[in-house]
Amino acid sequence: EIVVGALALQGAFKEHLDYFQKVIELHPQQYNHYSFKFVEVRTESELNNCHALVIPGGESTAISLIAERTHMLQPLLDFIKDESKSVWGTCAGLIFLAKQLKNGKVNQKLLGGLNVQVVRNAFGRQVNSFESKLDFSSFIKDCNDFPAVFIRAPVIDKLLTGDVNEKDEEEDPNIIKSLNNYNNKASLEVLYTLDNFDNNNNHLIVAVRQGNKLGTSFHPELATEDYRFHKWFIDEFVLSK
Ligand code: GLN
Repeated sequence: EIVVGALALQGAFKEHLDYFQKVIELHPQQYNHYSFKFVEVRTESELNNCHALVIPGGESTAISLIAERTHMLQPLLDFIKDESKSVWGTCAGLIFLAKQLKNGKVNQKLLGGLNVQVVRNAFGRQVNSFESKLDFSSFIKDCNDFPAVFIRAPVIDKLLTGDVNEKDEEEDPNIIKSLNNYNNKASLEVLYTLDNFDNNNNHLIVAVRQGNKLGTSFHPELATEDYRFHKWFIDEFVLSK
């Protein structure tokens, strides 16, 4: 039995679980050799049953605070260090999974599974939320028109290469760093960059992969009746090991 969990402390966890279920229902032949279970995760033992975990979108400050109050921070830190486990953070989940955060709340905690620095609410006031058809065919077969939903989304502001635990000469007190000194050694791949957003000459990184850790600024679990991103996660991150 393969158990895929969604961290169910706050945010859009149900949607992720429904989407995974749908992937299995829509492709009975492909998956009939496997028995999948998609579960809500709130406790250490629920977490430790999982082969893979999704950290949903929502509010990264709330997710971090509830994780702390429910004693889930340490189990989550241990989970991301275990290289046999896949983890996918969407939106607030990407923030929680990052190594550094530029404009977080003081008490906000980070897990540090992806060697990236993120910025919260990166899309400005006038475009807090939007949907855009994006071409993901470079990593998902034939997926050239995926309806990506962005809701007060973060972006990946910096790829942290080299020894990410080494102290910078000038430490920026406004940058929150992850709780542990785990250093993901897998290569960091940029999967998608939004170019010239808002007609500015910018390159906003909105999807990265580092080994079996995945981070997306957008919400594939809110893409209306489009389950391709979740199918790709099952195929690439859950079954391909
Ligand atoms: N703005 C939220 C945060 O900073 C993320 C929004 C989302 O997950 N849709 O946590």
